[in-house]
Amino acid sequence: MNIMGLEQYKGVYVFAQQVDNELSGIAFELLGKAKELAKDLDTDVTAVLIGNNVKGLVDELAAFGADKVIVVDDPELEVYRTEPYAHALSSVINEYKPEIVLVGATAIGRDLGPRVSARVATGLTADCTVLEIGDFPLVARPGQEQKHNQLLMTRPAFGGNTIATIACPDNRPQMATVRPGVMQAIDRIEGAKAEVIEYNPGFTPDNKYVEVLEVVKSVVDVVDIMDAKILVSGGRGVGSPENFQILKDLAEVLGGEVSCSRAVVDNGWLPRDLQVGQTGKTVRPQVYFAIGISGAIQHVAGMEESDIIIAINKDETAPIFEVADYGIVGDLNKIVPALTAALKAELN
Ligand SMILES: Cc1cc2nc3c(=O)[nH]c(=O)nc-3n(C[C@H](O)[C@H](O)[C@H](O)COP(=O)(O)OP(=O)(O)OC[C@H]3O[C@@H](n4cnc5c(N)ncnc54)[C@H](O)[C@@H]3O)c2cc1C
Repeated sequence: MNIMGLEQYKGVYVFAQQVDNELSGIAFELLGKAKELAKDLDTDVTAVLIGNNVKGLVDELAAFGADKVIVVDDPELEVYRTEPYAHALSSVINEYKPEIVLVGATAIGRDLGPRVSARVATGLTADCTVLEIGDFPLVARPGQEQKHNQLLMTRPAFGGNTIATIACPDNRPQMATVRPGVMQAIDRIEGAKAEVIEYNPGFTPDNKYVEVLEVVKSVVDVVDIMDAKILVSGGRGVGSPENFQILKDLAEVLGGEVSCSRAVVDNGWLPRDLQVGQTGKTVRPQVYFAIGISGAIQHVAGMEESDIIIAINKDETAPIFEVADYGIVGDLNKIVPALTAALKAELN
């Protein structure tokens, strides 16, 4: 328990997720954000690396901003299992007392984060879209102490209809999960070195350690839209799965990929892996086409950081035009093929 002495909790920690001894992209993204937070707090960044024979990954973490790496290396940690990983991370927190712990909102992080926060008796804010250091309450209230240097965690709330900023002023560490694609990694610092601390809390397999009999990898047959530089995204306005062909033609001419809104997934027109938005993927391409997409807040949350947004919609009052850099009002069935033909002529 940590009711007393909150000031003894220091440093920004990141759970450096690895799978099959390969660091996940989220680890680098969280390090990028951790560096900013640590600067504001005048402290350093520590990556917590948990696995079996993972010491070889330390330099990679240093190159992306870790000042220190705490390595928990044990054969029990070969593949992710809830119990030994939760034991490892909560033991690190109890031993080293960080003031902030960031975890990726990946399948692993969503399992691990809440369990660890409960074990170390603190709160956790899931799926944050903004993390910053500031005062809490945001505006001083008479008769209430305003605490400084708090982690302010912002996330969509009430089904995405409002944005909430949450703080954890009375417990440490302050814990947050962030989805992949939301934060940005720093540019690689060649030759950077981190201080390495090896820590092993000891593992006692018991009836809570599940036994992994076999790992069956899912065969991914769709592209990862988070890597695409150009996305041609379609919504309910496209009308049918067959009509997505006109979007595929446009994507092909531009060397881009097709993605979609949730309405398209709910209709069974395209697979969930292609969904952009709050409950889909967060994308940041150079160009994002929103075609027949109304621009609901939950959709916009996943694509508003795109460099250039081009909206095509027959309804000139559609909210998508509020976030678009370029807007074309009209029937997508006429505009998209005409655009494809014009680009084809231009690019050949
Ligand atoms: C908790 C929660 C989470 C959600 N998460 C997501 C999410 O991750 N991603 C997401 O996308 N949504 C999400 N939603 C759903 C979201 O609220 C919207 O319902 C959804 O985004 C609507 O999809 P759409 O824009 O394709 O369809 P619609 O809102 O039906 O819009 C269709 C648009 O197409 C236009 N159109 C129709 N015909 C044509 C034509 N011929 N030419 C040009 N334009 C045309 C229309 O004018 C309209 O603007 C979520 C909702 C909730 C409550």
